[in-house]
Amino acid sequence: MKTDRQVEYHGIVYNYGDKAAEDKAEEGEDATGGHGGGHEHEHGSRGKNRMNMALYPPRNYVPDVNSPQVKAWVAEIDWSKVPNIPVATGIDAESPHYPKCPPVEELDRTTCWWSCYGCTAPTDIITCPSANQWGLTYDDGPNAVTRDLTRILQEKKLTATFFVVGSRVLEFPDILREHVAQGHHIGMHTWSHSGLTTLTNHEIVAEIRWTEKAIRDVTGLTMKYVRPPFGDIDNRVREILHQMGYTIVIWTKGWDTNDWKLLMHEIPQREIIQNFKVALDSRAIVRSSNDKLAGPITLEHDVSNDTVLVSKTLIEMATAKGLQPMNLATCLGDMTPYQRGSKLGPGGAVEKINGGDSTGSYRGMTGMEEQDFNTPSQRGGKKGGTKGSSSPSSTSDAVAAFRRSAVYAAMGLASVASIMLTL
Ligand SMILES: [Zn+2]
Repeated sequence: MKTDRQVEYHGIVYNYGDKAAEDKAEEGEDATGGHGGGHEHEHGSRGKNRMNMALYPPRNYVPDVNSPQVKAWVAEIDWSKVPNIPVATGIDAESPHYPKCPPVEELDRTTCWWSCYGCTAPTDIITCPSANQWGLTYDDGPNAVTRDLTRILQEKKLTATFFVVGSRVLEFPDILREHVAQGHHIGMHTWSHSGLTTLTNHEIVAEIRWTEKAIRDVTGLTMKYVRPPFGDIDNRVREILHQMGYTIVIWTKGWDTNDWKLLMHEIPQREIIQNFKVALDSRAIVRSSNDKLAGPITLEHDVSNDTVLVSKTLIEMATAKGLQPMNLATCLGDMTPYQRGSKLGPGGAVEKINGGDSTGSYRGMTGMEEQDFNTPSQRGGKKGGTKGSSSPSSTSDAVAAFRRSAVYAAMGLASVASIMLTL
């Protein structure tokens, strides 16, 4: 039985409004505007770890680019190096942030647009270096089912890379801290989950930097790896992401599990398993971008009970064939999987007031030592501090916003998939 603070989307009930109502109450408490300087402390009134949503852009929307904070971030980029590639148009008026691919004969190949024409740049990570390694990655979390997945991974003594969505991080900050404590690796998956080629240069900066700030505020860590939603990237987006310190991760061709289709009941579980079996049987053909034998990187999602369950089966199938699942930092041998200046622990916007060690056992992350988090920042003048744009003004607004974005996401995914199938 749903309450009016839950949203059901294709059989999944999302607890959404409760949080928004709490935030609204806190906005009242914090209305004195007492947040100044570089720290934004938020005292959870009932001893829970909560984020003050009012300090961040609205969930699931492209952040406002006119805020002083975003303008400061934009000023850090050398725009003379960013290719002048036009912003992609959306598939239709309803879905302005899912790119419409031009006909092949009109394609400018110098743009290297992955989501429309499958082009990868040499700097894009698409495989693990060793043929027996499997880069295990989950996108679009965190959410209510994420802990079901991490429990399975813990039982199997495995760690993964989670590409998280900024606005969802604020909703489940403890899950992010658990990821780090359990030795998982966290990567960036933008703020609103829009196709980045459809965003202006400044919108891309706002998406990345707000997500970066949210994750840093929750964990103290600054992400180093980014997976663009839908793999939607071209050379304009690449250059902006590189300048912000990011390494781009796509996935291995043929190893998109298509598990997201379970969310819309577009595919039976047995088809995902069968497709994965085909991929496993032909894993000898996996090649890196420089044509060396390599291990696959999969695309999976921690978004529903079904995707979690199918993931367990895929792990068992692959390990039985000698493929070893692991997080990307481990497979890439990256001993410093976060940007310099990362310092483990809540980064300022939240305080844990009910005791305990919120930093967790960070050494669980392979190759990470304390000094990796305490090095001086590469970037000067980047301390956050100004407030973002306001949150949805009421619970019903928040629910409506979520419902719009959920429908929107479903349409976008389906549209992008149908384009790709026609290639
Ligand atoms: Zn995604």
